[in-house]
Amino acid sequence: MHPAPLPDAAQPSRKVTVIGAGVIGLSTAHELAAAGHQVTVIADQLPLQTVSAVAAAIWFPYHSENSAAADLLLARSLARFEELSGIKETGIDLRRGLNLEASPEEDRSWAQIVANAAEAPAEDIPRIAAAGMRATVPVITMPLYLSWLHEQALAKGVKFIQRTIGSIDEVQEEADTVVLATGLRGGELTGDDGTVYPIRGQVIRLANTAGLVHWLCYDEHPQGVTYIIPRRDDIIVGGTDVANDFNAEVDPQTATDMLRRAIGLVPQLAGCEILEHKVGLRPARETICLERVDGHAVPVIAAYGHGGAGVTLSWGTAQRVVELLGT
Ligand SMILES: Cc1cc2nc3c(=O)[nH]c(=O)nc-3n(C[C@H](O)[C@H](O)[C@H](O)COP(=O)(O)OP(=O)(O)OC[C@H]3O[C@@H](n4cnc5c(N)ncnc54)[C@H](O)[C@@H]3O)c2cc1C
Repeated sequence: MHPAPLPDAAQPSRKVTVIGAGVIGLSTAHELAAAGHQVTVIADQLPLQTVSAVAAAIWFPYHSENSAAADLLLARSLARFEELSGIKETGIDLRRGLNLEASPEEDRSWAQIVANAAEAPAEDIPRIAAAGMRATVPVITMPLYLSWLHEQALAKGVKFIQRTIGSIDEVQEEADTVVLATGLRGGELTGDDGTVYPIRGQVIRLANTAGLVHWLCYDEHPQGVTYIIPRRDDIIVGGTDVANDFNAEVDPQTATDMLRRAIGLVPQLAGCEILEHKVGLRPARETICLERVDGHAVPVIAAYGHGGAGVTLSWGTAQRVVELLGT
């Protein structure tokens, strides 16, 4: 485990309420507690009920902000995931894979912070794609990881309460600062309505009887985004990326189509048993909202709008919240 930072003498211990128990809320609560603050997490969905539990989850900046600020979050998160991959119970594995591209001009900036990323030789590229990058990145088995993170937060003294918050006023008595890690419901509590929108993601969970170890992603697949992520004991096959679609039900035709695309790229998947279908609504926003929000009786820090990369950006976001608390 990453050594807990010593309580910062320059930063007095505060009573912080984090609203949200997805990957952003849990990571933030963990980092705040590690910095010496008294932390309470309030959420109506427990960790395994959140969108975070649906994530594939591979470290990759998919459908998220492209900026220098986001690059810092990416790099910090990558470093922490790499370090945590040494602890089996985290559910984090470093896996090599191939990110396929439809054109040689695709944005490869993500690869600059991945030490071992390299252009894939032409013979590794299926005819349906133009180019690709190979890289070893963290793959996170979310149910294991969220449970582990929850335990770590509890061990650091974080308290958890299951409840819906209708207004920041409800918590201002007991908190010095409130952190909004509210995902798709992002700014509802601060009046920042309408800036966060869903990007619907449907996935299939397969038994990994094929013994697959390498991931494969092809966002620009001509028939629709396609990814195959082998985890500890299963494989996540996706996907869809439909903006402003709030449908949380599984669509059987979508599942059939995405499995066909995946088998087209990795024929061994044809023999793998389907374990489960899942849908999640990614909390998308033009830019991540990671800042202090004025105008409330209690100081508020927002941390939402991570789109398709909330896991990928989680530790960097949590560290930034700790920094914002000290400003
Ligand atoms: C199919 C799919 C695949 C994905 N794959 C990846 C991937 O490979 N890599 C990656 O990095 N990301 C991936 N993502 C994206 C990732 O899942 C999200 O970016 C991330 O989960 C967002 O986390 P969050 O903590 O902000 O929100 P959530 O996980 O949605 O958590 C929000 C929390 O806020 C609480 N909450 C909100 N409002 C209130 C309120 N008023 N009162 C009380 N509680 C409240 C909820 O109860 C919940 O606990 C994927 C998403 C999907 C759907």
